[in-house]
Amino acid sequence: MGTLVEITVFSEDSRHAYGALQAAFDEIARLEGLMSVFWKDSELSRLNREGFLHPVKVSPDLFRVIEMSLAISQITHGAFDITVGPLMKLWPFVAREKVLPSPGDIQDALRRVGYRHVVLSSEDQTVSFTVQGMALDLGGIAKGYAVDRAVAVLKERGIAAALVNAGGDVFAYGVKPGSRPWRIGVRHPRNPQALLAALPLTDKAVVTSGDYERYFLVDGKRYSHIIDPRSGFTAQQTASVTVVASSAAYADGLATGILVLGAEEGLSLVESLPDVQAAVVTEGERGELILRVSKGFREAYPLDARDLAAQGVRLLE
Ligand code: AMP
Ligand code: MG
Repeated sequence: MGTLVEITVFSEDSRHAYGALQAAFDEIARLEGLMSVFWKDSELSRLNREGFLHPVKVSPDLFRVIEMSLAISQITHGAFDITVGPLMKLWPFVAREKVLPSPGDIQDALRRVGYRHVVLSSEDQTVSFTVQGMALDLGGIAKGYAVDRAVAVLKERGIAAALVNAGGDVFAYGVKPGSRPWRIGVRHPRNPQALLAALPLTDKAVVTSGDYERYFLVDGKRYSHIIDPRSGFTAQQTASVTVVASSAAYADGLATGILVLGAEEGLSLVESLPDVQAAVVTEGERGELILRVSKGFREAYPLDARDLAAQGVRLLE
């Protein structure tokens, strides 16, 4: 999945702990084998090749991830959309040449983008596409799903407290010995050494999408790896989005979608969802950073406006 996965478990018995860790990593590797677009024989690659020709029967995991993705597309009004595959291929983080795609190429790719062109049949667990040349890209949600599954495996094995971190997609559950809660840092989007906050958490996922994770610069302008499926261009203005929810897959998809929607629309969406909190950092014209949080976030995780100001971040009340 192009990232580092780190798992911490607490157990009275180190053999038991190692066994559980191994099982969790095996589960993540299994899912990568299903959902990678970089592997020609992954289940997803096969679906992308055949989905327009005939309905393709897929594993329960792939079906579930696609189903969740379409639900997130609906609530984000298409800002989160796993059919961005044809667009992803145009932008230089995938294409070999570090040049921007032409408007014509983007228009052409947009014809093959749209979550409404994905057809699921729950009865026979098949997926098909209604437009030729479509390609799903699960980069915005698969890591979160893998984290949820790793947590499920650890719980099945009787691990009472653990932290799973797949490159910033985090799930923490149970309490550490001495009943201290897990503390998850939210990174400053422009300073890898600084934290905007440290969230005390248990039984929750925290996922951050940022324009700093994978990006390239052309004439000093930053192009992130997250694409606005409505225009075909890379998402601008939003520097990072952190979502807290009870599922890492859901938080992952939402964080990517909100990065496209922007602070205002993204936070009003979050206010309408039960049990979801979010923090959004936007970058102003002169590079100044502005942090906005949802009501639930503010209540659960008090922030210090003065500390943030010292880090060059203005907290908007
Ligand atoms: P994340 O780091 O979770 O925000 O995911 C970013 C990845 O999701 C990108 O590298 C693409 O693989 C994929 N992606 C890009 N734009 C979108 C989008 N608008 N909706 C869903 N997935 C996207
Ligand atoms: Mg995501």
